[in-house]
Amino acid sequence: MVNSQSKKSLAILSNTLMVKLKSSEEIKIMQAGGEILAQVLRDLAEVTKPGITTNALDRLARELIAKHPGATPSFLGYTPGGARGNKFPAALCVSVNDEIIHGLPSERVVKNGDLVSLDLGVYYQGYHTDSALTVAVGQVNQSAQKLLDVTRESLAIGIVEAVPGKTLGDIGHAIQNYVEEFGFSVIKDFAGHGIGKGIHEPPTVLNFGRPGEGEILKPGMVIAIEPMVVAGKITTMQKADGWTYATTDGSLAAHFEHTVAVIESGALILTE
Ligand code: MG
Ligand code: MG
Repeated sequence: MVNSQSKKSLAILSNTLMVKLKSSEEIKIMQAGGEILAQVLRDLAEVTKPGITTNALDRLARELIAKHPGATPSFLGYTPGGARGNKFPAALCVSVNDEIIHGLPSERVVKNGDLVSLDLGVYYQGYHTDSALTVAVGQVNQSAQKLLDVTRESLAIGIVEAVPGKTLGDIGHAIQNYVEEFGFSVIKDFAGHGIGKGIHEPPTVLNFGRPGEGEILKPGMVIAIEPMVVAGKITTMQKADGWTYATTDGSLAAHFEHTVAVIESGALILTE
């Protein structure tokens, strides 16, 4: 995730100047890292059950990544504000219910009916991959389940657009259009991003937009597409822990993300 609001004009400029296209060898390395990430995330989702703390999920994320020689967590020690910022002290972001992203693990206990978003990055052989999913814990109510399902599907619909000749606006538009059909809204304060040697590279991948607008997608672009969707207002606030972002109206949020390579033949999901 990157902040899409503060540096939008810079991002538009850097989109054209700085997108680093990846070779097929680089994409293969990222796919190997992405497979590790996908497996760890699946294992974490399975144990996201009533009674577990979000700290325990973070500890497990570190242990599971450490089982793969050469793999390390991308987010541990990451400074979103650049070198002067505070370092993120966990491997895993765990965002519960009204929390959208950057959830800081704590002694909070996961409960029946919670929506728990797990966001994880893995660094492997010089490259990052990034993926997220939302887990319905035990029995969640129907509207929470619908929010989860629509967010997951909106990611799939966005990925369909991630092919050569389409644009970033096509991706954003497809996601937004689908989400709004169900009366939900996409968060605009944060966005997806390019990814490779850096966890966050140009371009910024917005979850809204107009068809045909924005940068044209080319083979070798690797992007993290990550719709963040809410049931209520799209305004966000940072919580007192200094990391976690939540909705201002307390409404529920869901988040799904894949790292996707644009290749000649279409979109290749690297984190599944
Ligand atoms: Mg991301
Ligand atoms: Mg992520």
